[in-house]
Amino acid sequence: MAWRFALMIDPAASDDARTDFADTFTSVDPSAPALTVGELSTQRGDGIFESIGVVDGHAQEVAAHLDRLAHSARLCDLPQPHAEQWRQAVARAAAECGQGEAVIKLILSRGIEHGPTPTAWVTAAEAADNTAARTHGIRVVTLDRGYRLDVPARAPWLLLGAKTLSYAVNMAAIREAKRRGADDAIFTTSDGFVLEAPTASLVLRRGDTFVTPAPNAGILQGTTQLSLFEHLETRGFATAYATIPVDELTSADAAWLLSSVRLAAPIREIDGTGIPVDDALTAAMNAYLLSPRD
Ligand code: PLP
Repeated sequence: MAWRFALMIDPAASDDARTDFADTFTSVDPSAPALTVGELSTQRGDGIFESIGVVDGHAQEVAAHLDRLAHSARLCDLPQPHAEQWRQAVARAAAECGQGEAVIKLILSRGIEHGPTPTAWVTAAEAADNTAARTHGIRVVTLDRGYRLDVPARAPWLLLGAKTLSYAVNMAAIREAKRRGADDAIFTTSDGFVLEAPTASLVLRRGDTFVTPAPNAGILQGTTQLSLFEHLETRGFATAYATIPVDELTSADAAWLLSSVRLAAPIREIDGTGIPVDDALTAAMNAYLLSPRD
């Protein structure tokens, strides 16, 4: 990973009326140690994050990412992030990104054990080259997440739907998908419904309608999916949120995994069954997703 930039943030209270937060930022060397050993983000994965795609220095969909950071903070009982402070931190990081694709990460940790405040920081790094996934497509396998569809409502302490730093399970699912000869996974509920990928949202095309699993199923509302749905609507397509049974996956007319950095990766195989790939539509989606979006 080619790091470009890292900024420690002294988190402002959500009602702080300042307009300039420059003196709450400390630029640090991104390849040098910056956290203390008591950090709860590293000890327990206790914190939240966002990954923002950057194209030619433009950070995409910043407001949607900040909204989701605030939503995750509410679910995790963390102090509300100060939106303007984070927006200025993202602007500082984006200014370091230069031409090409990059990724800005926002991290808000519960802080140091017994310490007074959360720890917060922003990083910027070069993005991986995702051309192959965007153009040739990906093979996925379905993996049981082990929860029924009604678990998020019954057990909110599982934090399903918050983008927490505890991604070890998500990473394990991707490794399992690779062991099975695929590129990525789609999580399913134990009672047979489709959820999301470990780091992406799922969108299916059925005729002229684009469908994605409803976010109240304990999945993240994808900023890329939201932005793409708005765009597809302006092109005259219908969009919908639905509860999708697993056995409807392979009858889709086309399917994609969507995320902020890889963007639209067309799915060409699910559990070994071929799925039609619409090259022209996929290219148009990625052209839109690579255009400057606010
Ligand atoms: N679902 C999960 C579990 C994710 O981790 C992500 C992105 O990291 C997404 C969905 C897609 O979200 P976005 O489009 O905002 O990147």
